Amino acid sequence: MLKGKTALVTGSTSGIGLGIAEKLAAQGANVILNGFGEVDAPKAVVEAAGKAFGTKVGYHGADMSKPAEIEALMAYAQAEFGGVDILVNNAGIQHVAQIEDFPVEKWDAIIAINLSSAFHTTRLAVPGMRAKNWGRIINLASAHGLVASAGKSAYVAAKHGLVGLTKSVALETATTGVTVNAICPGWVLTPLVQKQIDAKAEREGVSPEAAQRDLLGEKQPSLQFVTPAQLGDLAVFLCSPGADNVRGAAWNVDGGWVAQ
Ligand code: NAD
Repeated sequence: MLKGKTALVTGSTSGIGLGIAEKLAAQGANVILNGFGEVDAPKAVVEAAGKAFGTKVGYHGADMSKPAEIEALMAYAQAEFGGVDILVNNAGIQHVAQIEDFPVEKWDAIIAINLSSAFHTTRLAVPGMRAKNWGRIINLASAHGLVASAGKSAYVAAKHGLVGLTKSVALETATTGVTVNAICPGWVLTPLVQKQIDAKAEREGVSPEAAQRDLLGEKQPSLQFVTPAQLGDLAVFLCSPGADNVRGAAWNVDGGWVAQ
């Protein structure tokens, strides 16, 4: 379905981004990976997923908090892949602290990586998408793009901002073949959440298993983690013709979190 398209997935060396990259490759898309840490293993996973299509998998290590590096990433996509057809803004970090203790540099980093990076990739990708009259922009927001939790002021502000950015750009492109939507996951068991489970276990003097049960019980009625594969399946749907008129949506995949 996506043969001939190129997907850039930011923050795709682990977790949700890797799961989405895998699903897009399995539909035949070429994929540009980005993110920190080990690259060969995630690259091999995505290559294997797209093997039947001879999927081309690239990598660029731009730090998504730095606009100049984002510009270099987009230039790489243009030079090596002829541009970006599917942009998945996924890179993100978390920091939990009460507002009066929130480190200023953590606030700045969360806003830069979780929100401003999507502004930069989007402003640079939209002209090429308009020219082809086809494009998909998928922003990984969060249930925290729709509702708040205490201790997560920067994250909640960034994710609400990302949902707002999604709606605004969806309106600007509404008469074109470019669609812009957000996916709003609940808890997904990735390194980002494992850190919060470990911190909770230590703070409350309970086992990691008990901390995990409590974490789900507090917010997620299904009591099950959402999986990167489920989010990848939704991303694939958003790239399909069936989703041509899904525009500006903030689609929750959260085990019932925001229904409460
Ligand atoms: P993760 O920690 O597993 O992956 C984050 C990815 O972003 C990694 O590849 C990391 O290298 C990359 N990254 C971090 N800082 C970067 C930077 N400055 N430049 C480039 N890459 C950078 O986390 P995840 O849980 O897979 O999160 C992915 C996205 O999904 C984030 O935007 C997160 O907010 C969102 N999300 C996660 C959950 C969850 O429960 N895990 C829920 C809702 C939304």
